[in-house]
Amino acid sequence: MSFFARLNDEIEKWHNEKAYRPLTVISSAQSSRVSIGGREVVQLSSNNYLGLTSHPRLKKAAAVATAKWGVGTGSVRTIAGNLALHKAYEQRLAAFKETEAALTFQSGFTANLAVLTSLLTKDDAVFSDELNHASIIDGIRLTKAKRYIYKHSDMKALEEALADSTESDGRLIVTDGVFSMDGDIALLPEIVKLAKKYKATVMVDDAHASGVLGRNGRGSVDYFSLHGQVPIQVGTLSKAIGVVGGYVAGPKVLIDYLSQRARPFLFSTSQPPGVIAACDAALDVLLQEPQLIDQLWKNTNFFKSGLKNLGFNIGPGQTPITPIMLEEDSLAMQFSDLLLGAGVYAQGIYFPTVPKGRARIRTIVTALHSKEDLAFCLHVFERTGQALGII
Ligand code: PMP
Repeated sequence: MSFFARLNDEIEKWHNEKAYRPLTVISSAQSSRVSIGGREVVQLSSNNYLGLTSHPRLKKAAAVATAKWGVGTGSVRTIAGNLALHKAYEQRLAAFKETEAALTFQSGFTANLAVLTSLLTKDDAVFSDELNHASIIDGIRLTKAKRYIYKHSDMKALEEALADSTESDGRLIVTDGVFSMDGDIALLPEIVKLAKKYKATVMVDDAHASGVLGRNGRGSVDYFSLHGQVPIQVGTLSKAIGVVGGYVAGPKVLIDYLSQRARPFLFSTSQPPGVIAACDAALDVLLQEPQLIDQLWKNTNFFKSGLKNLGFNIGPGQTPITPIMLEEDSLAMQFSDLLLGAGVYAQGIYFPTVPKGRARIRTIVTALHSKEDLAFCLHVFERTGQALGII
């Protein structure tokens, strides 16, 4: 069978199983309300936590930098694409994260690949929470390290795995700071304790914690006051920061090594000037407009308690990510379609993004949502939940 015939067969199967999802087209700027299919709907599916995708200070910074420096860098960092902008931003980011150094990447995905493939050799062991992000899973797959995938946030399972790994040279525990599909926070203090006991190093992926948790959005390490005890912090510039890219913040020796050997850094063109300038302006916003983070949390608490009071199963998560657990893929799709028809865009999430039988609607409120927006959403969720016999 030809490659394309095989792909076609699979796509047809997804259509038959109603598991094929056409990409939703948004024809407006990303905000608390967006235009889909010619209608304005409330956006509950973006990672635009603080509304920075369209913040005037970021837009202006991107425009000014683009006018001065152009739209692209023309090269990878290690050859001719290392602009003064990158270096200055990384120094500022390291100071913000309170680490020795930082390095930016084209995405959070490539930042995870960079760290894992640079650190782990066949003589090492890696301990990864079963719900870690796909980029951590893929990064580990690219290495020859011994893999221990422990049950989600199960510290007993983690300790058993650590105790089993005595033959390994280096041990790396890697965890999402905030789990992306459930919104729960990693048990970092317990992980750090185990890491000390078993002489392991901790790496946290703060994609959903940067700009959300900790002082001025410094992330999960700051939230738990664990500075100096989680040596590797990966993050994204694509969610709360509102732009695109990823970073690694940590010891100078790690950053130095990554700049010499990390394949995504060596072999993929550096971030454009407008992107770096906008990320830099986002740091100003985090430091000077903390009311955005306060508003994000007010909205989170209002929306979460509203859903809970309606009787939905929203899981144990504490952060702005709130899943509405529906289990069956087809139910999640139907729920999501009905929501959209009623003016709320909240995407259904199912296999392969989450395990089979764990389908859900996954919502993320932002600082931009008004109380009226969220009250309207709760009303639509109530009607939809009742219509489908869920509540
Ligand atoms: N890690 C986690 C936990 C994520 O949720 C994401 C985004 N889906 C990433 C990494 C990748 O970040 P980016 O979108 O910047 O590639």
